[in-house]
Amino acid sequence: MKKYTRKKISCLLVLLLSSGFLTACNTNMKKDVVTEAKEFAMGTVISQKVYGENGQVAIDEAIDRIKYLEGLLTFNAREGDIYNINENAGKKKVELNPITLKLMTKAQQVAELSDGAFDITIGPLVKSWGIGTENERVPAPEEIHNLLPLINYKDLEVDNHTAYLKNPGQMVDLGGIAKGYAGDEVIEIYKKNGIKSAFINLGGNVVTLGSKPDGSPWTVGILNPRKEDAAEGHQILGSITVRNKAVVTAGDGERYFVKDGKRYHHIIDPHTGYPAQSDLMSVTLITDSSFNADALDTAVFILGSEKGMDLLQKYGGIEAIFITTDKKIYVTDGLKGNFKLLEGSSSYQLID
Ligand code: ADP
Ligand code: MG
Repeated sequence: MKKYTRKKISCLLVLLLSSGFLTACNTNMKKDVVTEAKEFAMGTVISQKVYGENGQVAIDEAIDRIKYLEGLLTFNAREGDIYNINENAGKKKVELNPITLKLMTKAQQVAELSDGAFDITIGPLVKSWGIGTENERVPAPEEIHNLLPLINYKDLEVDNHTAYLKNPGQMVDLGGIAKGYAGDEVIEIYKKNGIKSAFINLGGNVVTLGSKPDGSPWTVGILNPRKEDAAEGHQILGSITVRNKAVVTAGDGERYFVKDGKRYHHIIDPHTGYPAQSDLMSVTLITDSSFNADALDTAVFILGSEKGMDLLQKYGGIEAIFITTDKKIYVTDGLKGNFKLLEGSSSYQLID
């Protein structure tokens, strides 16, 4: 009898323990449910990885929002704000969505601080070079010469409700800032859906929410800006680990074309009309907001390492990775010990 009871009790214990264990597993499993998606929007591949029960809902909402922003902010989207302001250049002020005005205001600040290196009136040159289209081309020197006077951020007037381009033929292009803005909005969408752990990569603009479900930080790869020279398997040059940060890159290694053996990339120096040629191949900024980083990284890329670093210091609170044309990698103090050069990336030198 005594024996039987003991057996019964231990059976009960096992049952209780295992049901407790199963509940724990279940909770963990729910928290760790991962949803992934890849989509083409805003001229680039957008990938998302979201942990948690509401993953799919959050991802769908994020994509809807990105598509809405694309319609509003993209150069070629008819009926959008940018189409509207460009159509009315030299004619009249146009009423714009507060989001468009917010992006334009930020762009104008960065333009001022970067001495016009970042300039969203770059539109006529972007169009002439065919950037982001299947018709990328090298414009004739006189064509570039004729377009240069149209590029001047001071000719764009922005107030609380309207914007105005002063001269016919001028065009705004928010390609250097729109994805950064979208990234921050997506993080808010994740949070609203109760997500604690996720990341989105908008064509090189990575934004992370929280850490991985096990509490460890996210690892973000830094791409080799000269992948075509790299041995197979070395598309990634190194990596950093982050939590709750945006890791935003501007460089000449992803979007470019080759004509007569020469590389032409998509970041135009507004002072020359040609793809920017500084001592930098790639600039990665690590900040709390991808919106803040996106215009800045393009400006830093154009200005080069010295003036670029001066610009970053004016802002403060930004960590950076610079990869120079002589294949040296510089990281700011806050990233020392964090940036890891991938084994086999020996043609690059990490400067400590
Ligand atoms: P990516 O689009 O590859 O993420 P960037 O954030 O650096 O890279 O933005 C590059 C885009 O910005 C170009 O495709 C073009 O639309 C626009 N652009 C190019 N040159 C400039 C410039 N000097 N100032 C502002 N925008 C620019
Ligand atoms: Mg940028």
